[in-house]
Amino acid sequence: MQLDILAIGPHPDDVEIGIGGTLIKHADMGYKCGIVDLTAGETGTNGTPEIRKQEALKAAEVMGMMTRDCLGLPDARLAVTEEMLRPIIEIIRRYQPKIVIGPYSKDRHPDHLRAHQLVREAAHLAGLHKYPAAGEAHRPPVVLQFLLGAYSDPSIVVDITPYYERKMEAICAHASQFALRADIEVQTYVNDPAFMRGIRARDQFVGSLIQVPYAEGIVMDEHVEINDLMSLPGRQRMSHNRNRR
Ligand SMILES: [Zn+2]
Repeated sequence: MQLDILAIGPHPDDVEIGIGGTLIKHADMGYKCGIVDLTAGETGTNGTPEIRKQEALKAAEVMGMMTRDCLGLPDARLAVTEEMLRPIIEIIRRYQPKIVIGPYSKDRHPDHLRAHQLVREAAHLAGLHKYPAAGEAHRPPVVLQFLLGAYSDPSIVVDITPYYERKMEAICAHASQFALRADIEVQTYVNDPAFMRGIRARDQFVGSLIQVPYAEGIVMDEHVEINDLMSLPGRQRMSHNRNRR
């Protein structure tokens, strides 16, 4: 199966947090979207790999994803090595996506940083015909970055307002990580209510950049080639309201 958009995250909840609304929106528009988790999140303070797998599949269902794979790379020990690049190259070749989206290049979590590098390098190497990995060579034409643990002024802003509650539902499907239960094993950075408030606040702030309630930001390093300047979308929202200046 060929995918339109393949989102790759280091841990089983990262894609939801960073780019969940955009994926839900594109799945609803009829595009084939899928998620790859590099690790099973086995060093997370709460939850087990088995529980986290069930939660990840539930979240993928909420989001309307066609696929969700876990590559089983070692959590908290991601490194840019040939051994870790190969399975990422192979899954990019298997799904032949038009767009690959991975984490932004700056982040306090070492796995997030390395996932950024792994995705970027794998997307390039997957296109080398003679690279020794399984599958037919494929270089995704577009490689994007979603915001995760650090903010950066985005190159692209996607209005996700109508999909916001589904994004939150997908995040909350990871109940072992985020649920505010009395029986939760250990208080962590992510199950503190401030963490969920932070996600909502960031998405509201990015929304404010285009005057909508909620949006997600995407960072793009490559240049965008435009033949016709009139095809740029511009501030459509402003022109819809002629009384507003
Ligand atoms: Zn993570």
